[in-house]
Amino acid sequence: MPSPLRVPRPLMFVLFWAVLMFNGLFVWIVLQPGPATSAAPTNHEPSRPLEGEASRFEFRQTHMGSEFTLILYSADEAKARRGSDAAFARIAQLDAAFSDYQPESELMRLCDQAGGPPVKVSSDLLSILNRSKSMAQRSGGAFDPTVGPVVRLWRRARRTRELPGADLLAKARDFVGIDKMTLDDQAGTVQLARKGMKLDLGGIAKGFASDEALATLRRQGIRQALVAGAGDIAAGDPPPGAKGWTVGIAPLEAPGARPSRFLALSHACVSTSGDAERFVVIDGVRYSHIVDPGTGLGLTRRASVTVVTNDGATSDSLATAATVLGPEQGLKLVESVPNAAALFVIKEGGKTKAIESSRWKTLPTASPKSEKAAAVVPTD
Ligand code: AMP
Ligand code: MG
Repeated sequence: MPSPLRVPRPLMFVLFWAVLMFNGLFVWIVLQPGPATSAAPTNHEPSRPLEGEASRFEFRQTHMGSEFTLILYSADEAKARRGSDAAFARIAQLDAAFSDYQPESELMRLCDQAGGPPVKVSSDLLSILNRSKSMAQRSGGAFDPTVGPVVRLWRRARRTRELPGADLLAKARDFVGIDKMTLDDQAGTVQLARKGMKLDLGGIAKGFASDEALATLRRQGIRQALVAGAGDIAAGDPPPGAKGWTVGIAPLEAPGARPSRFLALSHACVSTSGDAERFVVIDGVRYSHIVDPGTGLGLTRRASVTVVTNDGATSDSLATAATVLGPEQGLKLVESVPNAAALFVIKEGGKTKAIESSRWKTLPTASPKSEKAAAVVPTD
């Protein structure tokens, strides 16, 4: 069982440094203090919450190759533990279904039957494939869950530091295309047209899972909660006395520096895509782990996109799609998605530029005065 961090209210200014980094773009989750509380805690013991007062709990577990963090408020520790156990169990269940690393996952068993008749799948798998297909169609194929064979070549390139051969890339690209995946909601089936097709949900699964974990907590009666699956965050009701969970975006020029922009988010999901951590440099060119399905090549443009929407599957897949498309077309895509907002950060000719979508400018902002005095705990 994970041990929760129980934090006395007066100290809980900033306890969570999430997760997202692109060449200096950090997104921090900052927990704002509640309304002025009584006495400061002693140096020796955490103060006990008043009867009925919600305490803050934090739990972490690794799933989908990333650390998931749950932060929640509850007046009842047993309820907090039950809630977090259920939320992590839900994430583990989705990992077992969606993984493209585990040969026994439902996704990989489906791929084993590519080229054959329609295959009955779980409602979770059908649901995420529906979400993936609609983002593939919306984005003109910039986001494409059938991109697996190409992604695998780039994973190998990261290990060997050699570019995939042109013939191998051409072969892999033959398996890619959203029209090769047929979904039947009535029958609950998926059909993959060609033997050798491989689905990859890496660009959508963590956002979907963070949102599902938040819904699980809600069903357990825990509403003041935030779930962060690495760079994919789902926020529920705000912390006590706060207008939202403060998400700070640090300036690009000074990685790790104090964030310069802060959003106050509740009932919203945030995702960032970029090439901060996973990339390979070959012959002086930096290739991202995100590939352009149109060319089969890892992205070489230095860019990162942070998206805010109402649900995690959309924010995650839209961030990936917008990264592939770049600021011009990506912005058009974001503007076309209801309630979506995005911040593009691009680096061109040594200069960093930030571009905001129209809705980004309307997002509630925060100015955490407490931030200076805060403790920051990195999670990555
Ligand atoms: P994200 O960090 O959400 O942008 O997802 C990146 C992951 O999505 C990669 O590691 C691949 O597994 C997968 N991926 C890469 N390129 C694409 C793409 N064009 N469409 C969909 N998934 C992709
Ligand atoms: Mg994504």
